Amino acid sequence: MHQTLRRTKIVATLGPATDSLDVLEALIAAGTDVVRLNFSHGHRDEQIMRAKKVREVASKLNRHVAILADLQGPKIRIAQFKDDKVWLKEGASFLIDVDMDTTCGDETQVACIYKQLADDVSTGDRLLLDDGRIVLQVESHQGSKIFCKVIVGGELSNNKGVNLQGGGLSANALTDKDKQDIQSAAAMEVDYIAVSFPRDADDMHYARSLVEAAGSHAHLIAKIERAEAMTVLEDIIDASDAVMVARGDLGVEIGDANLPPAQKNIIRLARERNTTVITATQMMESMIQNPIPTRAEVFDVANAVTDGTDAVMLSAETSVGKYPVKTVQAMSKICEQAERQPSSIISKPRMGQQFERVDEAIALSTMYVANHANIEVIAAFTVTGSTPLRMSRISSGIPIFAMVPDEKICRRVSLYRGVSPVLIDLPSGTHEDVTKAAMSKLKQHHVVSEGDMIIVTTGETVGDPGGTNTMKIVWVE
Ligand code: PGA
Ligand code: MN
Repeated sequence: MHQTLRRTKIVATLGPATDSLDVLEALIAAGTDVVRLNFSHGHRDEQIMRAKKVREVASKLNRHVAILADLQGPKIRIAQFKDDKVWLKEGASFLIDVDMDTTCGDETQVACIYKQLADDVSTGDRLLLDDGRIVLQVESHQGSKIFCKVIVGGELSNNKGVNLQGGGLSANALTDKDKQDIQSAAAMEVDYIAVSFPRDADDMHYARSLVEAAGSHAHLIAKIERAEAMTVLEDIIDASDAVMVARGDLGVEIGDANLPPAQKNIIRLARERNTTVITATQMMESMIQNPIPTRAEVFDVANAVTDGTDAVMLSAETSVGKYPVKTVQAMSKICEQAERQPSSIISKPRMGQQFERVDEAIALSTMYVANHANIEVIAAFTVTGSTPLRMSRISSGIPIFAMVPDEKICRRVSLYRGVSPVLIDLPSGTHEDVTKAAMSKLKQHHVVSEGDMIIVTTGETVGDPGGTNTMKIVWVE
């Protein structure tokens, strides 16, 4: 059970800074709802160890914490320099040669681990290195060689990332390493798997086939971080269980100035299409080094909350930062305050929409009633998490308790905005017994008391997936 009823969820990336049990425990106690294992760094055994510790700590603290395995994907990188780094001068010539020795770079040339790069570029293209800090313009290309001119110079060191401005690199979203990592993630029974750099819905369908073949029930997150993904957003959202506004790589590809409208658009579309959404990257960046955030970071987190995000994510702030626990605490406070603004709470019921499913009709009617009557909490019995998911797509200040018989689903719904998971044995018997069981569980958790008006939703037979067809308004006895 959450100590607070913060609605926006916090995703925290694990790493060396959170490896001690004390820190991990404090991180989870501070309100981390989802932990992210970043498969771009670290060894498989390290991830397995981290996952195991998270399960132990969560169970000790009586918390449902989801584990998200974030696949590396086809992140394209330059190789290495003889002296680890070089200084590129504006206006100078620079050669990227995919066939040269990977350790012999200097200020005139460097190798690239992605062999296709030379086929993917055209004269006039701009290559953005190190998150856009270095800009190269393609003058010509021949065979394995891309001849460039330095447009924006500076220091360039080993293994820095390469993006093509405007997108268009042909790399497959799932690499051989990702396929192996999916096996590891399945073995760890992670709750979410994030696919990096998907181009379209087919990349997500393919990822799902691999995940299912590995025997995993993890839900899939599409990281929106390629320019071409923005052109087929609806299809990618429909092919995924959640999406991530991956502002790091997306900003490089579409330009930082285009990020704020992109973020709003992705969040709005995801919610409309009954999908959850995580806002990621540099949210509390300065807290990698400092014990308090900048004002700009406070506003960034708060704005993501008012945009309607389900979760806000921490990367280096927690994985390698100096103040991982303080960062989660600070972020949590910002979310809570932002959630109180009327614009975060006012519901936008889907008045113009036809219902396609019965559980959807119940979920949305529940939110309409809850937001227009003196309802204390909503208790939604659910087997798959689908009813509370649909409820949580409507803005509201009223807590939604997902009454779930299965620990795995408790973890899944811990990503959903405004939804708090409650593990409960499914009561057999009449609807009255079910209502009573919900009341006594909620009383046990001190979230309701006698006389409170609450809404309980269930199916005809409790425990039937997608079977929710009843909404009841009751007073707590
Ligand atoms: P990454 O993804 O941290 O794995 O690169 C997030 C992003 O690109 O913003
Ligand atoms: Mn990325």
